[in-house]
Amino acid sequence: MSKILVTGGAGYIGSHTCIELLNAGHEVVVLDNLSNSSEESLTRVQALTAKKLDFVEGDILDQHILDHIFHSHRIEAVIHFAGLKAVGESQQEPLKYFDNNISGSISLVKAMERAQVFKLVFSSSATVYDEANVSPLNEDMPTGMPTNNYGYTKLIVEQLLQKLSIADTRWSIALLRYFNPVGAHKSGQMGEDPQGIPNNLMPYVTQVAVGRREKLSIFGNDYDTIDGTGVRDYIHVVDLANAHLCALNNRLNAQGCRAWNIGTGNGCSVLEIAKTFEKVNGIHIPFEFSPRRAGDVATSFANNARAVAELGWQPQYGLEDMLADSWNWQKNNPNGYQD
Ligand code: NAD
Ligand code: UDP
Repeated sequence: MSKILVTGGAGYIGSHTCIELLNAGHEVVVLDNLSNSSEESLTRVQALTAKKLDFVEGDILDQHILDHIFHSHRIEAVIHFAGLKAVGESQQEPLKYFDNNISGSISLVKAMERAQVFKLVFSSSATVYDEANVSPLNEDMPTGMPTNNYGYTKLIVEQLLQKLSIADTRWSIALLRYFNPVGAHKSGQMGEDPQGIPNNLMPYVTQVAVGRREKLSIFGNDYDTIDGTGVRDYIHVVDLANAHLCALNNRLNAQGCRAWNIGTGNGCSVLEIAKTFEKVNGIHIPFEFSPRRAGDVATSFANNARAVAELGWQPQYGLEDMLADSWNWQKNNPNGYQD
């Protein structure tokens, strides 16, 4: 089993991936500056797995910390989650996003090169696809110019990693294009813990359910979809976490850079989410229709055939599991990790 450096490992997807890595027998070193997370998530990872990981509080922009980690551990591969992800903030403060997400990724791969570690799994996003593509989206479809600066950082990092792997064939890089991660660990002890008002649908719904928000605003009911509301491909965070283990495995004996969609392949509307949440959890979700949100597309869901065929990955959880697990986490931890 190998030792894996997980940047951003205290965050939502990173912490769930740490659980799966430890359960699979890997050793884990987490580097996180806790800018959008709490160390409590890692305490819970270790309690749930009854295994220890190494945590380094620090920034991927800090070359000294990176060198120190690579000198003190025999790291075989890196899973790179660290990044800022608030779309609205990325419009207000583009330089913060360019620096953290783009310069941060460059800083990381430079340190990897110095340490001769060439296996990398990168958290990308379905937002890199050109809006003109019609779902189901597959990896051969063209990427476009994302409508926001957050998405732009994902596209740029994808492209620079592709160019890097062409120039230097020692690199073996997986670009995982996530669709919409939701859900939480079955224990109810780990989940998504956004700071402030949630931007994303699922934490907003669970915060309405727990009484922290009055009602859900559904952004647009006049899209050309099944019921007029936006359609997305929601994927359980534990399935997503496991996709990283499959990608690591795939990269062990491979060269180059390759992208995989990580979604279920099923599209689901905002109204379906609200109604299914009510049915599964027995809680009323008041909502109102409000105008479309700038930059949103009507429909986005994956063709996941490449990940299924090449990574040997298969999502295990359906929508009802996602909604039950999201609620289980929220009701046990009304204030997230602050409880
Ligand atoms: P998150 O904010 O919960 O986790 C990111 C972690 O990175 C946080 O713990 C944060 O403290 C840390 N971090 C940020 N900048 C850092 C830096 N410079 N140095 C060290 N640590 C830093 O977010 P998440 O939802 O777990 O997302 C993980 C990755 O997946 C991100 O790159 C995100 O852009 C990407 N992604 C997320 C989604 C989603 O909907 N959640 C979708 C597509 C892609
Ligand atoms: N959405 C909504 N109300 C909210 C948050 C999101 O109606 O408070 C809708 C949004 O317009 C989109 C879907 O829910 O159709 C998923 O949005 P989210 O921000 O979670 O993910 P995105 O697909 O934008 O990355």
